[in-house]
Amino acid sequence: CGIIGYTGKQEALPLLIAGLKRLEYRGYDSAGVAVIGEGRVAVCKKEGKIAVLEGALNGNFPPGRTGIGHTRWATHGAPTDANAHPHLDCTGRLAVVHNGIIENYLALREQLVAQGHRFVSETDTEVIPHLLEEFYEGDLLSAVKRVIPLLRGSFALAAVAVDEPTRVVAARFDSPLIVGLGEDENFVASDIPAILAATRRTYVLDDGEIADVRPEGVTVYDRNGSSRTKEVFVVNWDA
Ligand code: GLU
Repeated sequence: CGIIGYTGKQEALPLLIAGLKRLEYRGYDSAGVAVIGEGRVAVCKKEGKIAVLEGALNGNFPPGRTGIGHTRWATHGAPTDANAHPHLDCTGRLAVVHNGIIENYLALREQLVAQGHRFVSETDTEVIPHLLEEFYEGDLLSAVKRVIPLLRGSFALAAVAVDEPTRVVAARFDSPLIVGLGEDENFVASDIPAILAATRRTYVLDDGEIADVRPEGVTVYDRNGSSRTKEVFVVNWDA
């Protein structure tokens, strides 16, 4: 299972697909992508191999320079198209990919359903976009910072918002996540091979850190919400 995210000067989709292929070794049962462009989020997700996803995309996905991708190893809900990531909120303007497990998802889901949220998958993950919707007021970073303390478990996640088309916000809590630092483009990924074709400069996120990723730069926050200076780790090996 794996996560990839991109925001920058290039079309996101080919980079997301290439990144997911580099993460195939981690094992997965489904794959999906979400790209922000033209005032909406376009999502494609499929049970099966990345080749199946590529077949479904069929070369006619809307353009966009920001997006997230996912390979899923199902823990909650069967491997189906509906349970594959990314998952959306009710407005369809927030999209999330997630690796790991949200242990308290049932309680969160009941609460969200009582508040009027409609769920379309059986995953633990889907509580995350709905929680983000509750807190989102035009600033994805602050919404993520408010949602994370509500989640129990081990996870890595990445989120995008239609209203902020040049931003990916990602967080690491017990599941691996790195940042890839480019020129007018930046990445997040579960592992270094996913970004090596684009850059060798990385931040290795520590547990509890949140990365605010924009084309012009990346800011990393610790679990208390304070921004911190990360050391650039330069990869000197080939995948
Ligand atoms: N628990 C989530 C799911 O079952 C994420 C699984 C994963 O790490 O890929 O959808």
